[in-house]
Amino acid sequence: MLNGRVAVVTGSTSGIGLAIARALAGEGADIVLNGFGEADGIESIRDGIASEFGVRTAYDPADVSRPEEAAGLVRAAQERLGGCDILVNNAGIQHTAPVEAFPAERWDAIIALNLSQAFHTIRTAIPLMYGNGWGRIVNIASVHGRVASINKAAYVSAKHGLVGLTKVVALEAAGRGVTCNAICPGWVLTPLIQKQIDIRAAEKDLTEEAAIVDLLAEKQPSKQFATPGQVGGLAAFLCSPAADQITGQELGIDGGWSAQ
Ligand code: NAD
Repeated sequence: MLNGRVAVVTGSTSGIGLAIARALAGEGADIVLNGFGEADGIESIRDGIASEFGVRTAYDPADVSRPEEAAGLVRAAQERLGGCDILVNNAGIQHTAPVEAFPAERWDAIIALNLSQAFHTIRTAIPLMYGNGWGRIVNIASVHGRVASINKAAYVSAKHGLVGLTKVVALEAAGRGVTCNAICPGWVLTPLIQKQIDIRAAEKDLTEEAAIVDLLAEKQPSKQFATPGQVGGLAAFLCSPAADQITGQELGIDGGWSAQ
């Protein structure tokens, strides 16, 4: 389905981004991986995707919280693999604290990565997409792009902003073969969430299993995690012809969280 398309997935050395990269490679897209980690581990991920799916892959170490590196990631994809047909803005971080105790430095870092990243990659990639008359932009927002929770001032603000940016870009691109959508996951078990489980276990003196039950019961009616693979499947669907007329949407994958 995506043979000959080049996909850039930010934050794809781990968790949801890696699952999205694998899902797009599974449909034949060439992949630019990005994110942090041990060089050996990243090389094995890159090589593994190339050989498992028979696609071209490249790794770019850009820190996409920096405007020039976010734009540079898109330009490098064009130079190394010949384009940027699919852009997935996935890299994100979290910090939890009440607003009055929220470090200003953490606010700036979360806004830079979870929101401004997408502005800088999109404004660089979209002229290429317009030139080809085809493009797919998928922003990994969160259920926290739709509703709020305590202690997440920066994350909720960034993700609401990302949903807003998604809608603006969708309107500007409408009718030009380019769609822009946001995926809004609830709890997905990844290293990012593991930290919150560990904090909860310590604060409430719970075992890890009990902390997971407690975490899910609080917000996610299905009481089950969504999986990175399910988010990858939705991203791949948004790149398929069936999704040609889906644009400007915030698509939940949250076990019913946002229906409450
Ligand atoms: P993760 O911590 O497993 O992965 C984050 C990825 O981003 C890693 O590859 C990391 O190396 C990379 N990264 C971090 N800072 C970066 C930077 N400055 N530049 C480039 N790459 C960077 O997290 P995850 O849970 O897979 O989260 C991925 C996205 O999904 C995030 O935007 C997150 O907000 C969103 N999300 C996650 C959940 C969840 O429950 N896990 C729920 C809703 C939304």
